Amino acid sequence: MNKSIGIRVAFASLTLVTTFTAFTQQKGGLELPPPFSLVKVADDLYNIVGSGGNVAVYVTDEGAIVIDDKFERNFDEIMANVKKVTDKPVKYLINTHHHGDHTGGNSKMIAAGVEILLHKNARANMVTGKLPGMSRVTFTDEMQVVLGGKEVQARYFGRGHTNGDAVIFFPARRTIHMGDLMAGTTPLIDYPNGGSLVEFTKTLDAVLKCDFDTVIPGHGAVQTKAELQTYRDNLGKLQARAREQVRLGKSKEEIGQFMTANFGWGAQQQRMSLDGMIAELK
Ligand SMILES: [Zn+2]
Repeated sequence: MNKSIGIRVAFASLTLVTTFTAFTQQKGGLELPPPFSLVKVADDLYNIVGSGGNVAVYVTDEGAIVIDDKFERNFDEIMANVKKVTDKPVKYLINTHHHGDHTGGNSKMIAAGVEILLHKNARANMVTGKLPGMSRVTFTDEMQVVLGGKEVQARYFGRGHTNGDAVIFFPARRTIHMGDLMAGTTPLIDYPNGGSLVEFTKTLDAVLKCDFDTVIPGHGAVQTKAELQTYRDNLGKLQARAREQVRLGKSKEEIGQFMTANFGWGAQQQRMSLDGMIAELK
């Protein structure tokens, strides 16, 4: 680690940009990330917020049902937070999709005896991406887990962030976990793993027809159904304006710059969303 920082610092004298990169990476390496916060969504439903995707914890008399498990390095801290709200073991883990910031703890979960469930396409994406911690059970349209008299549903509404995004319902709490179908201010569309901007809005429309009040997004603070509607409307605007750029015959570089200037696209979107979006909107 120190060696690589030294090399980065040596390169940094070349340009201001690399100097800044080296500085931030070095700074990141020295700072400890802040501890997770455990947010109460309802008396028996919690959200563990911090680096990686949001982890929902649903407490029942027969054990906990957990949604997503951040990165591998976060396993102990996730389990410590679960212990704050129940003395029962984690029985089921549902992954909202395959990305490593939502499935990173899977291997350790399996070793701890937890059954992992996720959409069939998400499992296939894990195989393609050679991600560790493979589930034994998948579903396609809908799945129901009933534990300690409490029900959780995982439902598939179509492509969006990837081709394997599950929306998790806690019917008794009128709450859903959206995974990265709702995350941040600008969406990431993972085209190499079946994501689609055109299908994304339809998928969100189908979710919005369902009965719920509260939304745990893939990352960040708990939201309302009205905020999910706003997110969907903004995505519709993004789609319309991006389509306009594509149909005006703008170059890939110009469209990339347009998306950054108008919709805050970062390096991840430029890498994973730009080519696929241009091809899809032509
Ligand atoms: Zn994701």
